[in-house]
Amino acid sequence: MTDVPFSCRCGGIKGTLHGASPSSGNHVRCYCAPCRAAVLFANAEDVGSTGVTLYQTTPDKISFQQGRDKLAIFSLTPQKLLRFRASCCGVQMFTVLSSPKFALAGVMTNLLEDTAALGPVAMEAFVLQPDGTRKHSSILRLYGGVIGRALLARVSGRWKQTNFFDVATGKPVADIYVPTEQERANLPL
Ligand SMILES: [Zn+2]
Ligand SMILES: [Zn+2]
Repeated sequence: MTDVPFSCRCGGIKGTLHGASPSSGNHVRCYCAPCRAAVLFANAEDVGSTGVTLYQTTPDKISFQQGRDKLAIFSLTPQKLLRFRASCCGVQMFTVLSSPKFALAGVMTNLLEDTAALGPVAMEAFVLQPDGTRKHSSILRLYGGVIGRALLARVSGRWKQTNFFDVATGKPVADIYVPTEQERANLPL
C-alpha cells in the first residue's frame, strides 16, 4: 500500500492517491469511444487505438493538497458518469459515478507521479475484436472488485468521505458542463 502524489498538467491541482496497490483498486485500460472522446475534448490529445489507463478506487482514497476549487466537471452522459478536469490547464483527472452513494472514482494514471504501486494493467475494457465487436479481457474483475468495494464504502459510511460531492445535498462540487451538439460532432463518438 503506497501513497502516490498526483497533479494536473500545470501543477495548479495537487493531491494524493492513498493506499494504492494492485489488490486495493483496478488498474484498467479502456478502449471505449467515450473515454477517447473525453481525452480529446479535455486534453486536446487523441489517444487513438491505445486507450486510456485508469486506476479505479473509492473516492475516500483521493485527497487534495491544493487547488480542489479548480476542479471543473464535464460529462458525455450526465446521469451516469462525471469527468472531473482541471479548470487551470484543462486535463481530465478523474471519472466519478454520478451518484455519490456509488462510491467509485477512477484516477487518470498519466497524472500520477509513479504508477509502480498500481502494478501492471490488470484488465482491458472494450477491446476491439477482429470482427468489429468489443469485449472485456476480464469483465468479472472489472466490475466485481470495484462494485464490491463501492458497496462496502456505502455500507460503512465511507462514501461520505468524498471530495467530489457536497454530501449534504448530493450535488457535485462544480457545475456539470455537457458538450454541445457541435462539440460532439467533432469527437470520435
Ligand atoms: Zn472507457
Ligand atoms: Zn492545471
